[in-house]
Amino acid sequence: MDLAERRTELAESLAEVRDRVGRACVAAGRAPGEVRLLAVTKTFPAADAALLTDLGVTELAENRDQEAAGKVREVADLRPAAGIRWHMVGRLQRNKARSVARWAAEVQSVDSLRLAEALGRAAGNARDAGERQQPLDVLLQVSLDEDPARGGCPIEELDELAEGVARTGDLRLRGLMAVAPLGVDPRSAFDRLAAAAERLRRDHQEATELSAGMSGDLEAAIARGSTCVRVGTALLGGRGLASP
Ligand SMILES: *Cc1c(COP(=O)(O)O)cnc(C)c1O
Repeated sequence: MDLAERRTELAESLAEVRDRVGRACVAAGRAPGEVRLLAVTKTFPAADAALLTDLGVTELAENRDQEAAGKVREVADLRPAAGIRWHMVGRLQRNKARSVARWAAEVQSVDSLRLAEALGRAAGNARDAGERQQPLDVLLQVSLDEDPARGGCPIEELDELAEGVARTGDLRLRGLMAVAPLGVDPRSAFDRLAAAAERLRRDHQEATELSAGMSGDLEAAIARGSTCVRVGTALLGGRGLASP
């Protein structure tokens, strides 16, 4: 497929996703401007990310540092003036903090204080080296399924993690993120998440973001207060069986 065809395809799927977000907002009595759209470009080439920026999508997300670091550079070469904010949404080892602090505006998958501290140090070093200008925005990833393999902080431990992150230099605590449990109705999980987000806002007024909802469940997430949907498949197409 050539670039013009791909652009048309992406424009159509983007219009559909924006329409879904808009209708979900109306159904929930919310303003569409309250929900931002992150395009999850994992497994797709830099050329697709560049086309999305041409279509007005400047909030992009990746889930693996190995793939993202190079892609971020490629997209910067393709569209130097696009003003993209890159988000890290996948599981993250502490030894990747240094690399991620160079390309991410926001990390949505912080689930331990040790990781947060590594990111804070890395963001400070990147700032000293002139590689970033802003503190690193951070969302705490909440576990909604008791499955440690999928990452996330248990809801009971969130208060403590939030306190620690709020005290860590070069990080800015902005809210919560979660992935709905597999194979069940996401609504009760999103209810628990919404309650946790409300609690967090009581103690941390700037922690207003709630990142929830993907291609399959964005309506349910918006109905329960999501301020950020992370959409891959519905925008870019299927990733195949072997991909993450
Ligand atoms: C891949 C991914 C998404 C996007 O999932 P789709 O179902 O393709 O929309 C969202 N969030 C995270 C954390 C992901 O890894």
